[in-house]
Amino acid sequence: MRVLILGGTSEARTLAARVAELPDIGAVLSLAGRTREPQAQPIAMRIGGFGGIDGLCTYLKREGIERVIDATHPFAEQMSRHAAAACARLGIPLLTLTREPWQRQIGDKWSEVADLDSAVRALGDAPRRVFLTIGRLGLAAFARAPQHFYLVRTIDPPADLPALPNHQLILARGPFAVEDEERLMRNAAIDVLVSKNSGGAATYAKMIAARHLGLRTIVIAPPSRPDVPVVHDIDAALRFLAHETLRGV
Ligand code: NAP
Repeated sequence: MRVLILGGTSEARTLAARVAELPDIGAVLSLAGRTREPQAQPIAMRIGGFGGIDGLCTYLKREGIERVIDATHPFAEQMSRHAAAACARLGIPLLTLTREPWQRQIGDKWSEVADLDSAVRALGDAPRRVFLTIGRLGLAAFARAPQHFYLVRTIDPPADLPALPNHQLILARGPFAVEDEERLMRNAAIDVLVSKNSGGAATYAKMIAARHLGLRTIVIAPPSRPDVPVVHDIDAALRFLAHETLRGV
């Protein structure tokens, strides 16, 4: 069976590793090409956009893809929309493998906002020391609030960084340990954490650390997703490939 995995997440990498062990499946992992040095994969990999819905349809037909698993990041809204449209057009079964969003716990001081612009506004007028962990793209939105100090953490260097007059950059890839996150925020005298609600374990440590330190956290809600069957664990995604009906996963 020819399978396309839309990736860019640790879940997609784990799924790829499990699929590589299945003799009857020829899978391709697709990445957008945002990360400069993507990690090596145990299955075939392709990199770069497809060229919208039409481009994706062309690719799916040309490669004879029979199943698609959308394992993109919960905030990769456009790719998920395109996958839903292309698979519906061609009648190819599509499954979303995604993380459950984090839920506010006792002790969390969350301000939940809908998007980056609302996150900037939620920081307020008074100068703050902000730990900004929203990824490489979208930093320019915070240029509208230059009164704050930003500790920015990304995997690759962000092009928008000079837009933030007062900042420090940390290049690092998760997972991170809670104690390290606490030390980092304490040493930098951080008073606000800004994060997408990305769900999953790999980057949750910062949320626990902020809770321990009593820090206010601005949490950006995930965008709505297309109406596609969703699973949250790799085994359920593998069952989908093993022809089980989606009702059974
Ligand atoms: P997006 O806004 O949903 O997608 C923009 C365009 O990038 C898509 O229309 C598509 O181009 C291309 N694209 C996205 N994911 C792709 C994939 N897996 N394979 C091939 N092309 C892809 O995506 P995004 O939010 O920029 O995220 C890009 C990648 O980074 C995704 O793989 C995602 O899983 C990963 N990621 C995103 C975030 C985040 O916060 N957004 C965080 C961590 C990782 P065409 O229209 O030309 O096909």
